[in-house]
Amino acid sequence: MTIHGISPDVLTALEHVLGQSGVAADSADMAKYLVDWSGDHHGGALAVLKPASVAEVQAAVRLCGTLGLAMIPQGGNTGLVAGAIDIGTARGAVVISLERLNRIRLVDADNFILQADAGCILQHIKNAADEQDCLFPLSLGAQGSCQIGGNAASNAGGVNVLRYGMARDLIVGLEAVLPDGALWNGFSGLRKDNRGYDLKQLFIGAEGTLGIITGVEMKLFPKPGRVETAYLGLPSFEAAISLFRRARRQCCDLISAFEIIGAECMELARLADPNIVAPVAAPVHVLIELSSSAAIDLRALLVDFLAGTMAEDLVTDAALAESGAQARAFWAIREGLVEGQAKRGYHVRTDLSVRISDIPTLIAQARQFIELQHPGWISQAYGHAGDGNIHFNVLPPLDLAEPAARATGATITTGLYDIVNALGGSISAEHGIGRTRQRVYWAGMSAVQRRLVSTLKDALDPGGLMNPGCLFPATETSS
Ligand SMILES: Cc1cc2nc3c(=O)[nH]c(=O)nc-3n(C[C@H](O)[C@H](O)[C@H](O)COP(=O)(O)OP(=O)(O)OC[C@H]3O[C@@H](n4cnc5c(N)ncnc54)[C@H](O)[C@@H]3O)c2cc1C
Repeated sequence: MTIHGISPDVLTALEHVLGQSGVAADSADMAKYLVDWSGDHHGGALAVLKPASVAEVQAAVRLCGTLGLAMIPQGGNTGLVAGAIDIGTARGAVVISLERLNRIRLVDADNFILQADAGCILQHIKNAADEQDCLFPLSLGAQGSCQIGGNAASNAGGVNVLRYGMARDLIVGLEAVLPDGALWNGFSGLRKDNRGYDLKQLFIGAEGTLGIITGVEMKLFPKPGRVETAYLGLPSFEAAISLFRRARRQCCDLISAFEIIGAECMELARLADPNIVAPVAAPVHVLIELSSSAAIDLRALLVDFLAGTMAEDLVTDAALAESGAQARAFWAIREGLVEGQAKRGYHVRTDLSVRISDIPTLIAQARQFIELQHPGWISQAYGHAGDGNIHFNVLPPLDLAEPAARATGATITTGLYDIVNALGGSISAEHGIGRTRQRVYWAGMSAVQRRLVSTLKDALDPGGLMNPGCLFPATETSS
């Protein structure tokens, strides 16, 4: 859907502030900004603004405020919940893409700090850290496309949360343009700073509803010189959770990833790459990674741990990576199954979290719900199990037309949310709310919680111009 109707005067005013290369207003130039990574969500915009400096972001925001134009900040558009594009709820808005703000500002290996423009691609930041023998541990399948500003705005998680935490835990300082165009510079280089409110947390996870992040200051870590990766086969999800508990105690904080994958997901991984072969034969797979920057014999630790768990039949099959290439092949399965789903077309996509011990119950109840109430639909369960995070996705039968699949998919999503709510879990472990989950998020809040978030929104964005329809209902900001 393309919303036409930007007046020539407004266009001229925008071009005056950003230059012609900073404004796209015809359908062909805007097209790539108006569809998300999955291809599931198509949006509309009056124009796409591409500021090339922080000052240009400020000028664009001020002008949009004066003209009463709603603004949608956009990073790599990999967010999966339509937070960065208007799917019909923003009443005609401009997209503000941060892609031209893409400079690494500082890599300070002595203080383990990296500062970057918000539009830097996550992979470029990781590479810059690596060149200084450091690690920036935020790691996710979209790292070649997502931007650090988008990671901050969505409080991204990924495969290393277990060891290093989410984006929120990795960010030391932020720089943001407020909805009135003022610039807040919250860079300090300080790891400890208890002077009053921690203002950066206002913008982290706010999904672009309180301002536009223009710069991110983040923590670096020593690069782990030693990494051991194993791909394991287990009889059940219960066994996988028992294994996790054991691993947590025996391998302690050396575990950097613990992913579970239902064996049914292999077919999806092969859609991404037909050469993928499961290294184990078992109903449930676990990808475990240990890493250390110290001279610890991780191999011996892992072998010893696996010997004990195999003797008890907790683990029934195991493959230890003999090389970096083999470890990458194991990870290609995990990454491939996400790509394969996108190739398969529309499907129900969730991002649930429960207490770790409730993971087997969540998966069993969700599978039973699909089998009994939606026969023919295909359940897929995988996720960052060490964080209690499961993507329980459901693929429509191949012969079902997309409109019908979408209608049933909405019912399935509601059913899955009911299951996770009954377990006291969350409908969004890491992808956020965006527009696709806005109604259910809003309906699930207590009156006090709604008052708190509305008070913050009204105080910072009284005109309601910053990403309307994302997190908040499109037409109101107060309860
Ligand atoms: C293959 C794949 C794997 C993924 N794996 C994971 C995973 O493991 N863990 C995880 O957490 N997520 C994952 N995601 C989701 C996604 O990659 C993350 O949410 C990512 O952080 C989004 O970054 P982005 O730059 O693409 O943001 P976008 O999608 O462009 O935007 C996301 C939200 O942030 C806002 N925003 C973007 N930039 C700014 C800014 N500079 N200032 C203010 N607001 C802004 C947008 O308005 C929107 O609301 C995955 C996605 C894909 C496609």
